[in-house]
Formats: sequence, structure tokens, C-alpha cells
Amino acid sequence: MIHYEVFCDSPHQHYIRFKSIFPIKKSETILKISAWRPGRYELGDFAKNVRNFKVFNIEGEPIEFQKTDKSSWLIQSGNLEEIIVEYEYFAAELNAGSSFLDETQLYVNPVNCFLYSADCIEETYLVNLSIPDHWEIACSLPFENKVLTAKNYEELADSPFICSANLSCETYEIKGIKFYIWFNNQQHIDWERLKSDFVKFTTKQLNDFTHFPTHEFHFFIHSLPYPAYHGVEHLKSTVITLGPSYEIFGALYSELLGVSSHELYHVWNVKSIRAVDMHPYDFQKENYSRLGYVYEGVTTYLGDLYLLKSGVFNLNSYLREFNKQLQKHFDNPGRFNYSVAQSSFDTWLDGYVAGAPGRKVSIYTEGCLLAFIADVKIRKATQNKFGIEEVMKRLYFDFALKGKGYTEADYRKLLEDVSGESFEDYFSNYVNGTQPYDNLINESLEFLGLELIQQPSTSVAESKLGFKILPKGKNSVIQSIYPGSPSDIGGLSAGDEIIAVNGSQLNNDLDKWLKYFENDDLELSVYRNGKLLGITLIPGIDYFYPKFEVKQIKNSTEFQLVNLKFWGQDGI
Ligand SMILES: [Zn+2]
Repeated sequence: MIHYEVFCDSPHQHYIRFKSIFPIKKSETILKISAWRPGRYELGDFAKNVRNFKVFNIEGEPIEFQKTDKSSWLIQSGNLEEIIVEYEYFAAELNAGSSFLDETQLYVNPVNCFLYSADCIEETYLVNLSIPDHWEIACSLPFENKVLTAKNYEELADSPFICSANLSCETYEIKGIKFYIWFNNQQHIDWERLKSDFVKFTTKQLNDFTHFPTHEFHFFIHSLPYPAYHGVEHLKSTVITLGPSYEIFGALYSELLGVSSHELYHVWNVKSIRAVDMHPYDFQKENYSRLGYVYEGVTTYLGDLYLLKSGVFNLNSYLREFNKQLQKHFDNPGRFNYSVAQSSFDTWLDGYVAGAPGRKVSIYTEGCLLAFIADVKIRKATQNKFGIEEVMKRLYFDFALKGKGYTEADYRKLLEDVSGESFEDYFSNYVNGTQPYDNLINESLEFLGLELIQQPSTSVAESKLGFKILPKGKNSVIQSIYPGSPSDIGGLSAGDEIIAVNGSQLNNDLDKWLKYFENDDLELSVYRNGKLLGITLIPGIDYFYPKFEVKQIKNSTEFQLVNLKFWGQDGI
């Protein structure tokens, strides 16, 4: 048994204080803090937030220790039976995967800040929370009198909790499974609408998988006063941050549904169905996997599609989300340089930053579109008897429930078994290769009576010159440049700050000046690395960064309408 006490005595400094008692098995004990958190496939090195680490024997006398690597402490535990470890954790960041303490709440993602020892990784953790009496506890772990119980480190690490005076909660039940929706700091909640929508997408997902791995599930939603959109999956819960609060039941409502459906789908796809490379998790180092297009891609695709299938979204609201993925795909020339499988491996390197221009792709975007192509291919081959959800169900029953991880070959075999078709080209050209697949997107859409409409961007900078900008005061900073476009040929660089066009100073009006000089050669004045440069651009006849939109074909055939109905079910 490992005992933990959690103290909130300096909330204004955002330090959570911990006191723990570890049983001792050996004369030397190594305690560790995780180097990353499941759900984000890059190193987080949470030990950087630890200060005042101290070790004592049970009489309170100090014990010697030293760090042996950035996340490990080696303790000379001798023949002691127990040691006391005290430390503080800096918790000043509030996102869906972090920990946070202030005067109003204690929010803990235990993988960030709890210690574990390989000697007692399977021991029960008892966590005693020293929190104000008027704070409520939202947690998927069982608790009594402010003491949480986790059966081992992995369960603790996967069980975030929020303690606050501003929690609101309602529940719903489907097939004997209890679902909790918690809000922290949300004033106005339209429970009726929310529960009705949550019941619909939850029911549809449960019906397809036919089995849920736990008896309860919690949605923990932090309502924030500033713009936020983030979700992190756990087996028995998800943490979501969303803001600003006043938009959650307004402009952000479809985002709330989208992220909630996505995170619920993760209960099966990644918390249960796990790539062999992460089975089990190694909390100390990178868990490289080329299968991100399955665990994030299929989840991105089906998370939104279940909102359509369950009638929460209509076709137009679904396509608005799908269009965003298509737009990201076509806007990123990295798709010609690096496959989605390679990009998945490299999330540990640069998966969560824009990174080097044109280097890589997103496992979410490419994975979503490739899942769509696979889904339609299976539907075509089986006359709509099966879709990709059948492949995921088999991964769940044949691998997850048997305690096995899956490989690319396993996933491919299931796609081929369910469809009766070869997926050789799919894997070699598009998953592991960088071949364009515009034609497959078009064919798949056509099968459903949908079409991809392409229109030039209304921005002259994007359409005629091939660069995207971000505003900076009165000026414009170049965000990205399309390879082979006039801006590329003319020598513009990402990061250049444009201050004038043909000698006319900008006043937040770059595109107006570009349109004014549309038929002339252009001389842009730019700041680059502290120097003022003049760059000449010669517009050509090609268009760049076109805008993509999927629409229903006006005169869809009966065949297409039937397919669309099967694919979108209640939302059509
Ligand atoms: Zn996800």
C-alpha cells in the first residue's frame, strides 16, 4: 500500500505539496515521475516541476538520495520498511492534460505529479486530499472521506480529478453504464439539450461496439474564461477544456459535442485497442508507433461521424467539420514529403508544433481522411453491410479484450477480412507512402452522392501569390508559403514581416493593396532578421491555397442516396 497526502496550502504560488509513504522492498529504491502522459505522444518531463524533494525514515530523520536521470531518484533505503517522501509540484498550467492549483480549485492529472517505484507498481494507492470542506470531488476513482483509492499506479495515473466549489454534475445511464457530465466553473448549463445529445452519440457508439470496458464514465469539462479547446482521453473519464464560457452553449456547442464524442470513442480506440508499441505503456521514454492514423485518425473520423449517425448533427453540420480536415490536407504541402505513418513515429519529435515548413503531416487530418476512404471502400465492397466500425469492433474483441496490442499487419488483415478487398495500395501508397489521393477522396464522395467543390481563395495573397499571413499590428507576417508559387520563386520566407506594397505603407490592409496592384509586378518591403528588403513578385496564372467544400450532388442517383443513408443513418 502506498499512502499519499495532497496539500493545497500555497494556492497563490500554484505549488501542490505531497507527502507519501512508500513500502520498501530493496536496500536501494528508485522512485520515478512519468516522462510523458498517454494521449500526448511527446515527452513532457514533468519532473521539471518538482522542488524540495526530501526523503525521511519513519522517525523523521533524513535519508540520502541522488538523481540518476532527469525523472528518477535513487534512495538509500537500507533495511527500512517504509520511507517518507515529500515534494512540491508546480501546477500553474490549466489544460486538459495538466495539473492546476489556485484558490478556487485543485485539478490533478496524477501522471504529472505522482511518484511510482518499479518495486511496487501493482500496489494500491490511497490518496488523502487535504482540501477545504466546501470543495466537492469529481473523480472516477472510488473515494470516501476525501480518500481516493487506486488499485495500482497505472489506474491512478489514468484517473484525473477536480476538487472545487464550482462543480455541477448530471448523469445518464445506458445499458447499465452510468455516464457523468461534470462542469467546473460553468454558470449556465442547458442540461436538457446536452443530455439528449450525449445520450444519442453514446448510444450509437455503444451499439456498434456492443460492449463497454468499464461500468461508468465521467466527462470532466473545465469551462474557461478565455479561448480554449482541448480534450484528453482516459479509460474511465475524459478531461476537456473549453472557452470562453459564454460561448459553450452558443458558438462552441458543436465543438463541445465534437470533442466529447471523440474522447468517448477513445475509451475503445487507444485506451483499450492499443498499438503493440504502447502495450503496456513505458512511462519513462518515447513509445514510438507508426499507427497514429488509427488511434487518432480513426477516432477523429468516427468521433464526428457518430454525431451524424446519431442525428445530433445534420449533414451540413457534419460536412462543416469534414471540410476543415480536407482544407488542412490540401493546404499542407508536407503531404508530398512525409507519410502519415512516419509523421506518427515523429510525434515524439515535433508532433504538436507547426515545425519545419512542409516537413510532415497531421495524424489527425490524414488519419481521418484515410479512415474515410477505408470506410467507403468497405461499404462499397459489402453493399453497406459493414463499414470501418466493424474493423474497430473486431480489433476490440480480438485484441483489446484478449490483452493484446495490434500491429499494422493486424489492422490491414482486418480491413481485408471485412471488405474482402486488397489494401496493399492503400498501405504502400498512402499510409506508408506520399502518393496523392485526391482521386480516392473524389471517388469515395461520389459513392455517397457528395462532391468536392474547389474555389479560389478570396485572398489575393493566397490565391495569386501563394502565401498565408498573420496580422501583426499594421503589418502582415508570412505564416506559410506554397512551394512553386510566385512568393516562393520571388524569395519570400515564412516569418517575413511585410510593411509596404509598391511603396505604400500597410495599415492592416495588405490584401487591398495586392488587389489594387493586381495587374502589376509587385515590390514588397519586408523586415527579415532585422534588415529591410525589397522583394519583387511576378503573379502567374496558377491558383494556390484554393478553398474546398463538400456538398451534396444536386441530382444524386437512387444508388448514391441509399449509400448516403447507410453511411450517415439518422443524420440524413
Ligand atoms: Zn484524440
